[in-house]
Amino acid sequence: MIEMRTVYVNGDYVSENEARVSIFDRGFLMADGVYEVVSVLGGKLVDFEGHMVRLGRSLSALNMERPEAMDDLLEIHRELVARNGIVEGLIYLQVTRGNPGDRDFHYPPDGTAPTLVLFTQAKPGMIDSQLARRGARVISVPDMRWGRRDIKTVQLLYPSMAKMMAQAAGVDDAWMIEDGHVTEGTSNNAYIIKNGRIITRALSHDILHGITRAAVLRFAREAQMEVEERSFTLDEVKEADEAFYTSASAFVTSVVEIDGDMIGAGAPGPIAARLRDIYIEESLKAAI
Ligand code: PLP
Repeated sequence: MIEMRTVYVNGDYVSENEARVSIFDRGFLMADGVYEVVSVLGGKLVDFEGHMVRLGRSLSALNMERPEAMDDLLEIHRELVARNGIVEGLIYLQVTRGNPGDRDFHYPPDGTAPTLVLFTQAKPGMIDSQLARRGARVISVPDMRWGRRDIKTVQLLYPSMAKMMAQAAGVDDAWMIEDGHVTEGTSNNAYIIKNGRIITRALSHDILHGITRAAVLRFAREAQMEVEERSFTLDEVKEADEAFYTSASAFVTSVVEIDGDMIGAGAPGPIAARLRDIYIEESLKAAI
């Protein structure tokens, strides 16, 4: 028998095969929704507060109403972890502008309840990841997304297409390029290391303000590593000593090749490996 997850939909815990959202939901018709992904380590939530603060920012940036259950999100996350027995994995949360009862470009009238959905994904082996051990290979692709990438919306068609381009090229992921500079990965923030300096694009509307990015940069500075927040070019990636990416699900993952060119020694480097260890160790300690 296939095991059914218990998911959360608008106030109810239900089996995944019984969960229902309207066909008129703005998330479905207009990609009018925002999301968060919180990782679970040792059955506890990593960087929960940071993800919820960013959720609040995404909702405000789109003038989207806050779901009634906004103050209960910690309890809902914990309940889903418990009910689904998640030890290592992710919790996906999505809020949409709700169901106006028909299709219309205009936002629904004030008071239309937002839709809130959460579900778990078990991912055993997230810490001891094979990809992190061998290092990811990426290709570069043009960044064709909209101009507010700092809002974590569910408009993920282009990142999805870029992942398919990577798959077709036989590699793991794609790094996106705009005006000759790397913006970020399809679902992660991008970094290079040159002469001991960790270089990553500064925060702006051009990239998602990664919660893992914030933590990793803080740990790097605490460990007396030099951090430079600035844009870098594809050529700089090719000449870097190391490269890596960060996200809630990948933590810190080395990048060892771009467009067929080896980066550094072509294997995960010592600085990225150290950052991964620090991040996982500190996250396990601080998880709630
Ligand atoms: N950049 C993009 C485009 C993403 O989709 C993600 C995560 O999904 C990230 C960066 C990393 O963000 P976080 O560390 O908060 O998971």
